[in-house]
Amino acid sequence: MTIDIRKVTVLGTGVLGSQIAFQTAFRGFDVIAYDIDDDALTAAKGRFDKLAAVYRDEVPGGGDGKAERVAEAIGLSSDLAQAVSDADLVIEAIPEVLSLKQETYEKLGALAPERTVFATNSSTLLPSAIKDFTGRPDRFLALHFANQVWHYNTAEIMGTADTDPAVYQAVVDFASAIGMVPIELRKEKAGYVLNSLLVPLLNAGMALAAGGYAEPEAVDKTWRIGTGAPAGPFQILDVVGLTTPYNILVNGDENAQRLAKWLKENYIDQGKLGIATGEGFYKYS
Ligand code: NAD
Repeated sequence: MTIDIRKVTVLGTGVLGSQIAFQTAFRGFDVIAYDIDDDALTAAKGRFDKLAAVYRDEVPGGGDGKAERVAEAIGLSSDLAQAVSDADLVIEAIPEVLSLKQETYEKLGALAPERTVFATNSSTLLPSAIKDFTGRPDRFLALHFANQVWHYNTAEIMGTADTDPAVYQAVVDFASAIGMVPIELRKEKAGYVLNSLLVPLLNAGMALAAGGYAEPEAVDKTWRIGTGAPAGPFQILDVVGLTTPYNILVNGDENAQRLAKWLKENYIDQGKLGIATGEGFYKYS
């Protein structure tokens, strides 16, 4: 069966789902965005309007009313059966709760046409934990975007042992077609490529500062000059926001919990959460 991806349905219109839907529609695909109820769809409409302004101002080709037309063209639905009835690809970006994802895939598997490919944007769950709930493990894989897809345009593609290689390739081609740089993983890995590299770097930077070895500025300067990278771990942490790393560290081993405590006492408790609050490890105007 040839796999032709033209019609895409995105499940979940939160931070990432709204961006994935917008980027896909911006690149000329037919897109339906699904969320649980009318309130969520009203919020989605607001997100698409905000994204239209970003694409108009920051993305080449987004001017002359195109970004606004894209926002208008995205179909909205809170009826799952209708939303997926003619989808070639469903990209799922619902909350990161395994049981919720499993339930959703059980419903989806029963409602979507046989040809439909399913892709999860999950950051931390492995597709093998979900595949048996899809009813079509050969047509299921992970397609993982980064926040601000128009700017940080990696798309990490990771199948399970059951994913059909033709499905995998079709999703790689789709990622390119929507302007992403496909990053192909050959087997499952928690954290994909990016977070497998980034998380240890951020933790090592925090361990240097929390241990009193070097100030955050000195750590960042070393990384920038020593490797030519544009930003050091603390500059990156300010962009990510300090809450997400805190939530991960606080559930980790003894060393991780020490770092969590340091982050909380020195930054989070003082409202220094990163760029979003005007101050993290650095001050922003
Ligand atoms: P979010 O909380 O911003 O959005 C989740 C959306 O899903 C909400 O609109 C919610 O109404 C909707 N939803 C809830 N239950 C649903 C259901 N049963 N069916 C359909 N929609 C439902 O979450 P997010 O940050 O966009 O994350 C979504 C997924 O994307 C997660 O798996 C996360 O790991 C992944 N992700 C997030 C980021 C990020 O930076 N936020 C980056 C990469 C991947």
